[in-house]
Amino acid sequence: MNLSMDKNRPSAENNRPLIDTHCHLEMSAFDPDRDGVMERARNAGIAAIVTVGSDLEGSEKAVMLAGKYDFVYASVGIHPHDARDYAPEAAERIRIWSREEKVVAIGETGLDYHYDHSPRDIQRRVFEKHLDLALELGLPVIIHSRDAKADTLKILSASGVSRGVMHCFSGDMEMAEQVMAMGLYVSFAGPVTFKNARSLQETASSIPDEYLLIETDAPYLTPVPLRGKRNEPSFLLHTARKLAELRGVSVDDIARITTLNAGRLFGIGRYPREGKIAYKIRDSLYLNITNRCTNACSFCIRFHSDYVKGHNLRLGHEPDLSELKEAIGDPSEYREVVFCGYGEPLLRLDLVKALAAWIKERGGRVRINTNGHGNLIYGRNILPELAGMVDSMSISLDAQDEETYTAVCKPSLNGAYSGVIAFVKEAVKYIPDVTVTVVDAPGVDVERCEEIARELGAGFRLRRYNVVG
Ligand code: SF4
Repeated sequence: MNLSMDKNRPSAENNRPLIDTHCHLEMSAFDPDRDGVMERARNAGIAAIVTVGSDLEGSEKAVMLAGKYDFVYASVGIHPHDARDYAPEAAERIRIWSREEKVVAIGETGLDYHYDHSPRDIQRRVFEKHLDLALELGLPVIIHSRDAKADTLKILSASGVSRGVMHCFSGDMEMAEQVMAMGLYVSFAGPVTFKNARSLQETASSIPDEYLLIETDAPYLTPVPLRGKRNEPSFLLHTARKLAELRGVSVDDIARITTLNAGRLFGIGRYPREGKIAYKIRDSLYLNITNRCTNACSFCIRFHSDYVKGHNLRLGHEPDLSELKEAIGDPSEYREVVFCGYGEPLLRLDLVKALAAWIKERGGRVRINTNGHGNLIYGRNILPELAGMVDSMSISLDAQDEETYTAVCKPSLNGAYSGVIAFVKEAVKYIPDVTVTVVDAPGVDVERCEEIARELGAGFRLRRYNVVG
């Protein structure tokens, strides 16, 4: 299945497929109308569903449903509620099912100290067995954890498991950070839409794109505004809308990000392997004209991922002017066209000038995101050359002094920090709107950076560590 090519898939408000990474299609709640549920899911733009077994019977049904519906995949395991029923033959049955082509994960497993339906020592032992099995089989794990933070983290970190998801996440940001540090994804379901879920919503707004997943957990946890009804995969769009609102992006962005993540975790579908030269985030178009940079910032995403908001930005080659014009199309369709991408755009100054002039001629707005090394690179003041063709500029300051800058940004040019300061001073003379940006990386004095920005006559924007785009 090619997730980016399904032209027959109508969608309420976006043209991106969503993946429901966790539901229980095998449960009896769907017996009366399962085919209808599947049809509504397709019509709502759900490109794939992972149906998750909670016990042996449910796991067997999940495998059977994955065989019946082309866009359904299965996970097999024993829920902590049923851990007391775990017997030695369970591991063997799970091992056999895992060889099926469409079994993509082990679980649902984990710990539930809220209901305590199974004794806690048995829950812990069964969780450990699932984790061992997942490692042995090379599959990711789907983890349930409720009111069991300390034991979940302890068992996970001892296990060595680094592929999986904390499903229907209900923990705090500290827990999220610890599981992400182990390499696990964090998935949000209907509860993030609930009115009294402020703390969960704060967590959902802070998870970095590359760890975010979405799910229904149907038939449970129906999102607002459909609470009271049985949940089903077609309702996923409501949770996607809430996540988009919380994170200040579009539903299209959420779909692209979470579908890429689900595809990579579970091996479902195909995802973009070619680097994009123009990509949309919210209502702006971003240009990726080089992957080269004169910095090597400790927080730079290009050192650990090829993707920003689900777009692959690892270029096979640096695009020329005609390729970029073709990729942009009509620049007036966007709020602004931003020179950004996985590198320093002013390393290609002549191309930036030619393209910026072309965009302006067609009624577009131009912004350049730069590390402020332009004058050092060319040994002259390049700002007058950009006057009249650039509407706004974001310049990364990222430190309050040379020493911190060198430690955080690892520049390849001598005198880089004072060069950035001098660049900002010149930029405010020639560019109508100049903003100094700072990432709140460890060691950075954000307040002092803001003072410096004001002293230089520029605006200021704080960028959160781990949030890109
Ligand atoms: S300046 Fe930007 S592109 Fe260059 S290393 Fe730093 S974060 Fe990455």
